[in-house]
Amino acid sequence: MIFEYPEPPLERTHGPAGYLTHESFRPWLRDEFTFRCVYCLKREMWGQVTGEFELDHFEPKSLAPERTLDYFNLVYACRRCNSAKLDQPIDDPLTILSSNVVVVLPDGLLSSDSLDAKRLIEQIDLNSPALRRWRVMWMPIVDLANKRDVVLYQQLTGFPEDLPDLGRLRPPSNSRPEGIEFSWHAKQQRGQLPRSY
Ligand SMILES: [Zn+2]
Repeated sequence: MIFEYPEPPLERTHGPAGYLTHESFRPWLRDEFTFRCVYCLKREMWGQVTGEFELDHFEPKSLAPERTLDYFNLVYACRRCNSAKLDQPIDDPLTILSSNVVVVLPDGLLSSDSLDAKRLIEQIDLNSPALRRWRVMWMPIVDLANKRDVVLYQQLTGFPEDLPDLGRLRPPSNSRPEGIEFSWHAKQQRGQLPRSY
């Protein structure tokens, strides 16, 4: 199900540190967030024009300037959601937006009984009419591709070709080097990359 949020991970897989620009964290974040926006689940494979995906400071730079280059303060987000968030302090989307708390209804509405999730949905405006229409359009497209066009289905639900090879990167430090073997590129090397996700 393309709009199913992930199960909440207990902790992040990677821990690079010491880079001088926040853009250097991009390959790690692409892998960590599985090539989609943490808020709305838009995927890179659904049309990535330059700059569409941004590195969002979870704690805004204005409130936590010391965390500007902190990997654990960065999330992968589409331009739309990053713009909607602006400088609002929010709860951690990794723990709030999970499949056992938030569900997508057939009419495109995100629904949750959790007050925290409701607040986050409101803050990022994840139930805007435009986003609801967008979900209602994509769900049958992916279903139709699944039934009629296996190549298209794999494009829509599969991984991008340029999986970051994190083992080749040399961050000044990495508190979780063991995470690299769980990266999507490493799984691909072992023949364990799923066709769809
Ligand atoms: Zn988004």
